[in-house]
Amino acid sequence: GFEFYPEVGLTRVELLDKISANMSEKRFQHVQNVAQAAVKLAERWQYPEPRKAELAGLLHDYAKEETDATFIQLIKKYQLDSDLLNWNNNVWHGLVGIYKIQEDLGLTDPEILRAIEIHTVGSAEMTLLDKLLYVADYVEAGRTFEGVETARLLAYEQDLDAAVAYETVQTVAFLASKHVSIYPQTILTYNAYVDQLK
Ligand code: GDP
Ligand code: FE
Ligand code: FE
Ligand code: FE
Repeated sequence: GFEFYPEVGLTRVELLDKISANMSEKRFQHVQNVAQAAVKLAERWQYPEPRKAELAGLLHDYAKEETDATFIQLIKKYQLDSDLLNWNNNVWHGLVGIYKIQEDLGLTDPEILRAIEIHTVGSAEMTLLDKLLYVADYVEAGRTFEGVETARLLAYEQDLDAAVAYETVQTVAFLASKHVSIYPQTILTYNAYVDQLK
C-alpha cells in the first residue's frame, strides 16, 4: 500500500479506519483483497497509476451497507435517472454509491468515481481502470465460485478484455438462473464484450 492518498487527503491508516468503520469485517477483508488484485492487474496491464487502482479497490463497496432509504434519498437529491428507483442495493451501491463516497470522503477524481460507479454492471465503453476494478472484484483472492480459476487465468495472464467478457457472461447466466432481473447496462456490457471470448 501507499502512505498517503491525495485523492482523499488521508493517510493510509486514516483511510482504512474510515472504510472499516462503514462495513463488516468480512467486507473490509474483501475490499482489501480487491485493492491488492487491482494493483497486481495494474502492473500486468501497465496501468500507470497503481495508487488509483488501489483506491478504487478500497472504496468500491464503501456504500454497500447503506440502507435502501439512503439510496432512495440520494437518487432524489442528485436527480438521478428515476428508473433507478425500480432496482435494489446490488445496482445502487455502485451507481448511486459514488454520491455517498463524494459526500463522505470528498473524492472528486472522475476516473476513480467512474470505475466505482460501474463496478457491478460494467459498461459498453470501459477504460483500463474500469476493467481493472470490474475484474479485480471478481477474481480477488477470497473468491471461490465455479469458474474463478478460468477468470484468474484470463485476468492475470491472457487477456483483460476476455476476462471482462467471461465475468459478464457468468454474471448474466447466474442472474438468469436465479430468475432475477438484469440491469439493462449489464446487457450492454455483455453485448460489447462477448465477442472477446474465442
Ligand atoms: P460485490 O458488491 O463485491 O458483492 O459484487 P458486485 O458489486 O459485482 O455485485 C453485487 C451483486 O449484484 C452480485 O450479487 C451480482 O450477482 C449482482 N448483480 C450484478 N449485475 C446485476 C444486474 O445486472 N442485475 C441485478 N439484479 N443484480 C446484478
Ligand atoms: Fe460491489
Ligand atoms: Fe463485480
Ligand atoms: Fe466488491
